Amino acid sequence: MTDQLTESSGTLASLRLIYEISRELATAIDLRTVLTRVLFLSLRNVQGSSGAVIVLDDNGEPVDSAIIHAGSVQNPNTQRLRTTLDGGLAGWVVRTRQSALVTDTSNDERWIKRQYDGEADSGPKSSVSAPLMVRDRLVGVITLTHPQKDFFTTEHQALIQAIADQAAIAVLNARLLDESNRKAAAMTALAQSAASINATLDPEEVLQRILEQTSEVFKAEAVSLLLVDPVTNDLVFRAATGTKRNEILGKRLAMGQGVVGWVAEKGEGVVLQDAIKDERFFAEMDKNTGYKTRALAAAPIRAKGQIIGVLEALNPAKPFQSDALTVLEGIGSLAGTAIDHAQLFNQVAAARTRYLELFEDSIDPIFITDQDGRIVESNRRAELFTGFNGASLHKMNIYQLHKVDLKAVGEDFAALRGVEPLMYESRLQGSGEKEIDIEVHIRNVTIDGADRLQWLMRDISERKELDKLRDDLMSMIYHDLRSPLSNVISSLDLIAAMLPQDDANLKSLLEIAVRSTERVQRLAASLLDTARLEAGQRIGNQVPSSLNAILLEAVDAVAHSAESKQMPLGTAYPKPDLTVKVDADMIRRVVINLLENAVKYSPEGTQLTLGAAEVDGMAQVWVADTGKGIPEEDQSRIFEKYTRARIGTGTAKGLGLGLAFCKLAVEGHGGKIWVKSELEKGSTFTFTLPLAAE
Ligand code: ADP
Repeated sequence: MTDQLTESSGTLASLRLIYEISRELATAIDLRTVLTRVLFLSLRNVQGSSGAVIVLDDNGEPVDSAIIHAGSVQNPNTQRLRTTLDGGLAGWVVRTRQSALVTDTSNDERWIKRQYDGEADSGPKSSVSAPLMVRDRLVGVITLTHPQKDFFTTEHQALIQAIADQAAIAVLNARLLDESNRKAAAMTALAQSAASINATLDPEEVLQRILEQTSEVFKAEAVSLLLVDPVTNDLVFRAATGTKRNEILGKRLAMGQGVVGWVAEKGEGVVLQDAIKDERFFAEMDKNTGYKTRALAAAPIRAKGQIIGVLEALNPAKPFQSDALTVLEGIGSLAGTAIDHAQLFNQVAAARTRYLELFEDSIDPIFITDQDGRIVESNRRAELFTGFNGASLHKMNIYQLHKVDLKAVGEDFAALRGVEPLMYESRLQGSGEKEIDIEVHIRNVTIDGADRLQWLMRDISERKELDKLRDDLMSMIYHDLRSPLSNVISSLDLIAAMLPQDDANLKSLLEIAVRSTERVQRLAASLLDTARLEAGQRIGNQVPSSLNAILLEAVDAVAHSAESKQMPLGTAYPKPDLTVKVDADMIRRVVINLLENAVKYSPEGTQLTLGAAEVDGMAQVWVADTGKGIPEEDQSRIFEKYTRARIGTGTAKGLGLGLAFCKLAVEGHGGKIWVKSELEKGSTFTFTLPLAAE
């Protein structure tokens, strides 16, 4: 009867307790409150003197705890929790997932003895402990102690298990809520960091904000940011907070040196609650600065998949939580992108400034237009040069300033589509009567993403002036030479007739005089022809003439100089002879010019050939030598006035007018002239002439 009564009153007590516990816990949400309430309720109902609840995560790591000792809540010591879990009674409960009863702590091996646990001390003498389980999931462990031996009984053990079972679900909920709260806080911190870090593009400011955000999130005593030096591959302290900031800025660590060196090398973050104990820790740094690193977290800073630095936080106000690394790595990757963007932005800005400086300081006027020629930008020089101010220029079209050479640029600037710039000569039409000879250089440029044309104008009026002076001088010379020369020639003819025919010396002297005079006469005639043909005059007296006769006369004129350089002159005249419709005197001078050049620019003793044939309905004439040859890049230029090849000309003097005359003369007849040449092998000049109709 008594037994039954005890049992039923015990059951009643248990039911009341369970009801009370569920009511108490229903309103508590945060983990700490739940734990303290569970403990207080347990101590009251099981009558323990002290107790502890340890909450475990799914890996069995302690995440939080509550301790009540002699009626007051105490701060848990992580280190002690670990020891208890590893070797103590709570550890046994966690491993076996069973409740435990220790009636005498002095002779139970599951109990870790501490110095105050001795026989005479006031430490716990008996204890009960139970696992907090939600189905098969271990959530924590609760342990109660009493300073008296044999105080707890199996009944207490059953009771504490009942409390544990009741409390487990509340603890698990609170733990999950706590975790998700922490995650949410981490996400908020990251989002705030992102907003702050990305709000600027000034590289120094970006670094400063990364530091601020890291400090703020971890309440860290010091934060450092190291960047990889691309040249030496060292890590350099680029920004820092904390008391030793000035000592460490600019200091270097080799790749792989210290914890940060390890992080940079491996590309992995680390969290060390006690850095000094880690073998990677580089103590030298603290020794030099006098700083004391305790806890340390470091994460790599990445940009475009490359590690560009390391972010580290030292001595946080509270120990680094389980998600510290995720948060720091998050800030690290934000930092990487922000640093990269800031650097790129600055490079672009610097390039733009440099371009603007070059643009403004250029000694040549420069205009930027759209694809229709509307001026959108111009430099100072352009204003001075045209006499229009910037505002007026920006309302104008480049066509209003000069005549665009449509042949050079092509329809809709098609010729500019390539990367090569184009050049042509024109005349600038400035404000008022201002006109200047210019050379225009145009190229395609991209400015702020838009396709533009850049027009650079160069004043060539001085060069033009000189050209004109030279031409004037030339025309004066040949006009004034012509009539005296004719007189000399006729006088020489007379003298030849009057001289005794058998005096060889006199005859040879006279021949020299005649040949030289004829050369001067040919030169004067060719200069005159050049001026006329350039002015667009047509060749008047084109009559059917024997090509062979022209070639023979030409050979006659140069035979003497070829002989004196021992150069054999082979000929290949057309058979039958060809009749060409030409100004015979002019074409004879063209052939003589080519033959004279061949003699002049070839070494002594080399072979010359003069030939002609009918090809494709035209007469074709060629002069070949086996001399020095003409560099490829000069082959088209040598037909321009005053132009001579850069190499191979040797000491031979010349004006660079001969081939210009040949080209004008041949083209004036409707023919073409060209050269094929190879260095050290020789050159062949070929030209075509129209055949006279049968
Ligand atoms: P000039 O002989 O007065 O220099 P030309 O117009 O006749 O002027 O020739 C232009 C340039 O072409 C010469 O200066 C020379 O460099 C080159 N040239 C012409 N003919 C030959 C040749 N047969 N062999 C090598 N170079 C030549």
